[in-house]
Amino acid sequence: MTRTLPWRRAPHVLVAARPELPRHVPAGTRAVVVGGGIAGISAATVLAERGVEVTVLEAARHLGGRLGAWSHTLSDGSEQVVEHGFHAFFRHYDTWRAILRRVDPGLGLLRPVAGYPVISRRWPAEDLGDLPAAPPFNLLALFARSPSLRLREIAGADAALGFALLAHSPAETVTRFDAMSAGEFLARLGVSERARAMLFEAFARSFFCDQDGLSAAELVSMFHYYFLGNPAGIGFDAPSEDHRTAIWDPLAEYLRKRGAQVRLGAPVEGLRRSGERWVVEAEGGSCEAEHVVLALDPGALRTLVAGAPVGPDLARRAGSLQVAPPFAVSRLWLDRPAGPDRAVFSAVSGEPTLDSVTLYSRLEGESARWAARTGGEVVELHSYACTAPDAATATARMRAELAALWPETAEARVLDVVERSEATAPAFPPGTAGTRPGVLTDTPGIRVAGDFVDCPFPSGLMERASMTGVLAANDVLAAVGVGPEEIRGIADRGLLAGLPVHRLGALGRARGA
Ligand SMILES: Cc1cc2nc3c(=O)[nH]c(=O)nc-3n(C[C@H](O)[C@H](O)[C@H](O)COP(=O)(O)OP(=O)(O)OC[C@H]3O[C@@H](n4cnc5c(N)ncnc54)[C@H](O)[C@@H]3O)c2cc1C
Repeated sequence: MTRTLPWRRAPHVLVAARPELPRHVPAGTRAVVVGGGIAGISAATVLAERGVEVTVLEAARHLGGRLGAWSHTLSDGSEQVVEHGFHAFFRHYDTWRAILRRVDPGLGLLRPVAGYPVISRRWPAEDLGDLPAAPPFNLLALFARSPSLRLREIAGADAALGFALLAHSPAETVTRFDAMSAGEFLARLGVSERARAMLFEAFARSFFCDQDGLSAAELVSMFHYYFLGNPAGIGFDAPSEDHRTAIWDPLAEYLRKRGAQVRLGAPVEGLRRSGERWVVEAEGGSCEAEHVVLALDPGALRTLVAGAPVGPDLARRAGSLQVAPPFAVSRLWLDRPAGPDRAVFSAVSGEPTLDSVTLYSRLEGESARWAARTGGEVVELHSYACTAPDAATATARMRAELAALWPETAEARVLDVVERSEATAPAFPPGTAGTRPGVLTDTPGIRVAGDFVDCPFPSGLMERASMTGVLAANDVLAAVGVGPEEIRGIADRGLLAGLPVHRLGALGRARGA
């Protein structure tokens, strides 16, 4: 295990390549990948490169899952590609970026998104972007810069819990914090309302859950992964063209050139055993293979596994998966621009519905061209763990909240809208660490990949999806004696891991007495 040290900026090798082993599989090695999101396509990419005959079965008519994109005709007759939602591509997403490099070696498809402001009605904006990359300098700089972390804002803080953030190590974090909710952790942390709202809550909500529905262990791990243990810094990039043009069409072409079959509109309805092989039953025809990667969203995995002859451990783990409350995404084509100084992406704190705002017309080619032509603005509003009863209500609430934050948008007329509310993100409730499926299962031939999967290495969201996909592919390669794909990432232990930081609380109390 490695500790995060300030001078360790290069990614760690988490899985080493084994050049002494063959690179290509024996002829006739077949695999079926169920699900064409990041996890499934990451697995399929590695398998196809090594000579595996891969079939990807994807239920939707497009690839990408929660990162997918599709065509939409605006009321003026023009075509736009609409995404599932804005995504921040963090710079330490080593596995996912390595997959993207297959189609764009210089990663020119991504461009930096300036700043990472958190905005609120109550307090001035905070910028989490542009902090020094290396821990602990990022934390020191945040303290020096953030008005939410002045002495009076943190006077009542529990030092032991604060240091626990720097002392993350996977097993200890789970033991100490999994039974607690993120809400309780933040309350016990004892920082001011302002520091809690502006620095911690906005971050916690990006994981699609209410604070009371999110395990404090997951929050501490994610704080380590994205901030305190992240040697690349918290800044991020985003594609400068829509996700279909920039990512999915090129990856589909890359796969097809390597002999993979990508079947869209092919929902998998069942799995059954036939001798040593699995029969994967999909609309439009079944496929047989010895190796299967299930790369579904958590609800779909639970449904598929419920009717399948899998081992008891996989059945129990998949059966206990929980899905987060719905998220709502509303893309609005407005007849006038937002203020010229508004950031491309802003996280929102303290609103009942609105969690983020993205100005697509300042980010993505097609939206920018529409805005240049019409003088309008393309704005996307997100709500995570959304309480609105339907997408239209979510849009109305988010618009009203945006108008309170950015008054210039109040009078804007909505020329077009695409709005969705959907529950496909995983939940990480308190007390559930160790209950989710891992990549390896007790069922011969079946591996699981996705952003909810118990991953042996630090990772989150898109990177966890990609990393578990590559780990699943590596297990298929191992089964036929072929060397693994190298995987890089960050250290799994914080700067103070292993030190008795929990005693600091007692010290603080004794001093205060
Ligand atoms: C609005 C929004 C914003 C986000 N922002 C960020 C961000 O800024 N940064 C970040 O890192 N992550 C972000 N995420 C999370 C990120 O999108 C996910 O972590 C990632 O896309 C998950 O990929 P996956 O392959 O595990 O799952 P999915 O993308 O859900 O893929 C599963 C696939 O399985 C398919 N499927 C389901 N059932 C079947 C079936 N029966 N047969 C065949 N196929 C089936 C689905 O259609 C889907 O394509 C965001 C997500 C959303 C929704």
